[in-house]
Amino acid sequence: MGTRLFSAFAVLLIIFALALATEGCSSGKSSRDKAPFYSTGTGTGTGTGTGTGTGSGVGIELVCVYDPALGAQTSHKEHFAGIVEESSGNIWTGTKNQIYISKATIKDGTSGDVIICNLDAYKVDHPTLGSVYGYCIGSTMYVGGDCLTLTFQHELGHAKMDLPDHYGYTMICIMNAEGGGIYMGDRNYCEGGTFDCWGAVVAKFGISASGATGACPATEVIIQ
Ligand SMILES: [Zn+2]
Ligand SMILES: [Zn+2]
Repeated sequence: MGTRLFSAFAVLLIIFALALATEGCSSGKSSRDKAPFYSTGTGTGTGTGTGTGTGSGVGIELVCVYDPALGAQTSHKEHFAGIVEESSGNIWTGTKNQIYISKATIKDGTSGDVIICNLDAYKVDHPTLGSVYGYCIGSTMYVGGDCLTLTFQHELGHAKMDLPDHYGYTMICIMNAEGGGIYMGDRNYCEGGTFDCWGAVVAKFGISASGATGACPATEVIIQ
């Protein structure tokens, strides 16, 4: 009986490990000495604005690249631009109307903030973990050309907000990819508790903990 119980437990452990490997994203090594990646948006109209939005906010600028060998067409790049723009709105809402993607340059290349690993799949091949939704190495995120906006926001949380994964926990947060994503749907940043993603974002970007008002400014999209 003891042996059977142990075997059952071992099987459960293996299933859990496999689930982590397939569902998961890997945050990889985190670099703390990276260059600044965000710019403060315009306040009252005399600054150097991007887009057409009139609200203030903190804008994140992203260079998104396809390996030239993929032969990405303009249609692929426009599709990815849509993912970025939708994600910008989700991040704006998730940060209580304060952070958005102010500029996205989408082009062929081998280095950037976002490496688009394929033309039109939503998953990508991790170097060691096999097929995953996305992953991050340092401040660079790796996603598919048709990645989920949940994945995009989650990986951006690693790459540009220094937020950790929450595997094994049950709090509602975009960084909690446990359970096949059932905790990510609100696209929020958890407040307080073990990880306090909201507190980390507020501190890192110098935004208001209580939030702001205003519509999400437009993302300036440059397709090359
Ligand atoms: Zn993750
Ligand atoms: Zn969190």
